[in-house]
Amino acid sequence: MNELELIERLTAGLPRNASTRVGCGDDCAVLDFGGMDSWILFKTDAVVSGVHFDSVAAPEAVGHKALGRCLSDIAAMGGWPTHALVTIGLPVPFDVEWVQRVYRGMQAMAAEYDVAIVGGETTASPGAMFLSLAVMGTVPRDRCLLRSGARPGDAILVTGDLGGSLVSGRHLTFQPRLAEARWLATHFEVHAMIDLSDGLAGDLRQVLKASGVGAELLASAIPISAAARKAGGGVGGGERMGAQGKTALERALTDGEDFELLFTMPASDVVRLTDTWRGQFGGLKVGCIGRIIEGCGLHLRGVGFNRSLDLDGYVHFQGT
Ligand SMILES: [Mg+2]
Repeated sequence: MNELELIERLTAGLPRNASTRVGCGDDCAVLDFGGMDSWILFKTDAVVSGVHFDSVAAPEAVGHKALGRCLSDIAAMGGWPTHALVTIGLPVPFDVEWVQRVYRGMQAMAAEYDVAIVGGETTASPGAMFLSLAVMGTVPRDRCLLRSGARPGDAILVTGDLGGSLVSGRHLTFQPRLAEARWLATHFEVHAMIDLSDGLAGDLRQVLKASGVGAELLASAIPISAAARKAGGGVGGGERMGAQGKTALERALTDGEDFELLFTMPASDVVRLTDTWRGQFGGLKVGCIGRIIEGCGLHLRGVGFNRSLDLDGYVHFQGT
């Protein structure tokens, strides 16, 4: 059983209450307490030593990543974070200085986005060190972006360059796209949004599933990062493979932890978006990589081929 199958099994029939507007299955839960212009966003996420970082990672970067992952999910809803709780599990004995440096990294990012860290829990861990965060945020009621809003005919866009985040170390230093997502939600009719944590193909599939649609990607439009090109060799359909047998294009499609935004919007708005984007976020790319179609499935088009894409996103573990 893989992680997605386990989540599906565990979340079936979980209790909801009157304030639960969106429960499991999106980047954040959406809660409506009434009487406010905004909804509350609620999210938890964890980083585990040996899974999300290794022993050579700078402790500040571990703290940065732990909070950044949650903030990226708040961004994916078009929201802004407000508060965080931190649970840390430590093998005994532990290095106090190392733990304090992890907190310094987390605090620096929290300060940057005006997130208050308002409590938490420390515990001994018989296994690996882990850091689990719960983050709250807000989103204007009429600007909340879900995975389920993609419509046939929409253009599919992504920010930044994709792939190679683990080999380049970018997974420890990325900045959550909070300002970009809020700007998009404010100025454009964005239909669906998700942050890219498990790989373009896997995450897009979540949008397609939630929206009941299919998609066609244009191979030449996928923005492949320099790290993915270097690690993956060529960009062709199977030749010149790099480490782990992936081409550069396959890396951009399936490598996890890019923490960029993927969103869909009316195709007629794409030119206005790419034009005004440059004035706002000139240092960051945004580009159209394909379109939403009727039906289901994910197809990849290139010169002389149009194939159904069976590449999965990054799957964290295999269980029985
Ligand atoms: Mg997410």
